Amino acid sequence: MTDSRYDAVVVGAGAGGAAAAWRLCQRGWRVLLLDAGPAFDAAVDYGLDRPDWERLGFPHKRGSLGQTRFAPLQELDPDNADLRSWSLGQGISNRESRRAVSGPGYHHVRGIGGSTLHFVGESHRMNPASMSMRSRFGVAADWPVSYAELEPYYLQIERLLGVAGPTEVRDRWRSAPYPQPAHPLSKASRQLARGASALGLAWDVNPRCALSRPFDGRPSCNYCGGCTLGCPRRDKGSADVTFIAKARASGRCDLQSDTTLLRIIAADGKAGAAASHIEAIEVIRDGQRERIPTQRLILACGAIETPRMLLLEGGLGNAHDQVGRHFLESVGWTSIGRFQTPLMSFGGLPADSISWHYNRPDAIPGVVGGFRLSAAIHESDMIGAIAHAQRAVPGFGREHKRQMRSVVGSTVAVGAVGESLPNPQSWVDLDPNDRDPHGRPLARIHSYVDGMTVQRLRAMARATRAILKASGAVAWVEEYGTYDYFSSAHVFGTCRMGVDRRQSVVDADLRVHGFDNFHICDASVFPSSGGGEAPSLTIQALAVRAVDRMVSV
Ligand SMILES: Cc1cc2nc3c(=O)[nH]c(=O)nc-3n(C[C@H](O)[C@H](O)[C@H](O)COP(=O)(O)OP(=O)(O)OC[C@H]3O[C@@H](n4cnc5c(N)ncnc54)[C@H](O)[C@@H]3O)c2cc1C
Ligand code: SF4
Repeated sequence: MTDSRYDAVVVGAGAGGAAAAWRLCQRGWRVLLLDAGPAFDAAVDYGLDRPDWERLGFPHKRGSLGQTRFAPLQELDPDNADLRSWSLGQGISNRESRRAVSGPGYHHVRGIGGSTLHFVGESHRMNPASMSMRSRFGVAADWPVSYAELEPYYLQIERLLGVAGPTEVRDRWRSAPYPQPAHPLSKASRQLARGASALGLAWDVNPRCALSRPFDGRPSCNYCGGCTLGCPRRDKGSADVTFIAKARASGRCDLQSDTTLLRIIAADGKAGAAASHIEAIEVIRDGQRERIPTQRLILACGAIETPRMLLLEGGLGNAHDQVGRHFLESVGWTSIGRFQTPLMSFGGLPADSISWHYNRPDAIPGVVGGFRLSAAIHESDMIGAIAHAQRAVPGFGREHKRQMRSVVGSTVAVGAVGESLPNPQSWVDLDPNDRDPHGRPLARIHSYVDGMTVQRLRAMARATRAILKASGAVAWVEEYGTYDYFSSAHVFGTCRMGVDRRQSVVDADLRVHGFDNFHICDASVFPSSGGGEAPSLTIQALAVRAVDRMVSV
């Protein structure tokens, strides 16, 4: 029996699910979009104007953080002591002999808008050179969709979000300019540009979905620097104020927050049918279980929860043991230096500048997979007095106060984010011990930093240090990275797309192999990560393209 109210049910209202729901509504379909997390109200929930804004961080609400478990992480090698995280205030951060999990480890938000509520808002297109890692370098898998096929979708989404960007971005051709003019560089970024130029590296404006001009009923950015704490002005292009607002305005989208997917109910294909079929889902809301029949199911719970949902059903779409495999996490390194002159580094647009110099997969001699460099003080959370007192200025008393006055605003971070390549020791499965409140096993992350990643991290650390030094940093304050901590905001790969169903979970149109009405539209479909590109724009381009292909069949 099918529910005549909806043509499609989308589970997960984050980057991918929101984009899919919007496009379905645009194409005239009636959609139910549901999410396990709560709705956030920018005017009420975000705390940038509160005295305790720094302690508050991103304001998690009831149900807005999922639970994840980790298998024991690897022993650390004394030969890699140069990649250990440390700060002036605290010394070596991870004093264990093993890699540790930093905070929740998997940084995400459950809610209407998903992790985009918390994200910085960097809006990157993939480097086409990073989309054929298997055929060029024998690693990861090739993308079954080309940059040329994605380009019109990138453009549509940049226009919908109001992305502000430079006239061009290296290696990525465009069929039309960015819809909004680039933001001016902050004082700290201009300082970094001077250093980069002294080293012969281009230091560019970073494409950002933060409005440089009022657009679509939203005001322009005021450069408060708080993007990861939740944008109170709604000019950051998080999915709630863009895709979901538009889907709702179409009158064809019903939205349900605080509704958790419990089960996906599949029927075997009818006799002689080539494909299986999803009949219904079971959800829980306000303690009540409900069965919702589905004509189409789009799963978009992110690269940890999506494979979990499939594994909980005994391995839906897992005929070839691909669900949960090929897990990719952010590979990052950040160096923070102190400058002699005040640079007001706590303000300005986060991540306003970037260098693509090392972004191509063959940019580091002897290493496969590149990285990007960007201004990163806001992502490091080194913007308020508490962070400076704890991490940058050791001691106490009068001298401590004096130093605090000169240090706050003079710390500058350069962050590197690099290619993450699959290895057999990195995957997601079900935890054998711990369960969620509904009695179902939690997702368990297995993560391993292999030798090639260590080499890439070392190249990243060399570059961040060199730029800060050339820019005039007079002292080091803190460094941290992936080598000794799992701390990932970008996760991918666990239901990857591909032509060969023995090596992938979904096809190029994001349809689960072996099913006729089941798609996955989130970060889990990435076959490779790119050399540090922020993923949301690509997740959304893939999702919108998938809907177009679905609707036209
Ligand atoms: C601090 C931070 C900074 C970032 N900065 C950037 C950036 O600048 N640019 C960029 O492109 N990306 C950035 N990212 C990454 C980006 O936010 C994610 O890659 C992207 O949101 C992933 O999209 P998704 O659709 O895969 O998952 P998500 O956006 O995480 O959405 C998944 C949704 O599924 C829901 N869900 C999960 N399980 C269930 C269930 N059982 N039932 C119902 N719903 C469920 C969740 O509640 C969630 O809302 C950042 C992330 C963080 C945390
Ligand atoms: S810097 Fe701009 S986009 Fe970011 S939170 Fe402030 S107003 Fe919003």
